[in-house]
Amino acid sequence: MKWVNHEIVTGVVCYSLSSDPLLAIAGMVGAIVPDKIEGNPRSGNYWSWRARHRGWSHWPLLYLLLALLIAQGTPDLLHPADIAMPHLVFWGCVGALLHIAEDAVCGKVPLLTPWGKHGLRLFAVGSVTEYLFAIAIVCLCWLLHRSFSG
Ligand SMILES: [Zn+2]
Repeated sequence: MKWVNHEIVTGVVCYSLSSDPLLAIAGMVGAIVPDKIEGNPRSGNYWSWRARHRGWSHWPLLYLLLALLIAQGTPDLLHPADIAMPHLVFWGCVGALLHIAEDAVCGKVPLLTPWGKHGLRLFAVGSVTEYLFAIAIVCLCWLLHRSFSG
């Protein structure tokens, strides 16, 4: 999925879950972490980058484990009264997990191990279908948020 769609979909999903713009931004920051770890495909050897693409940086258990560790000692993660660093890091992990889920619908990502990749490939990255998929997720989140927030 293109970064613009990662950012939009992740931000809207995080805002729908938290109803907090700051936590949504933390999720959006987390949504670029898996690709940032891999580096820039245009600087250096493309094929070296390609070999690492969607490798251990896209292994969901890393972010899930960190989120669970934070959840152990941080109350009220979904709707905190006072937002502190653990809340931001937790929502950053949520953003990274959403990034990986978004990549899994247009390619393959690791699941249980960093080297065993799985995915659906419902559409090609950058295709019209990707943008329609992103718009559909945004509309679904808007409807659900509107229904549940009263
Ligand atoms: Zn990615």
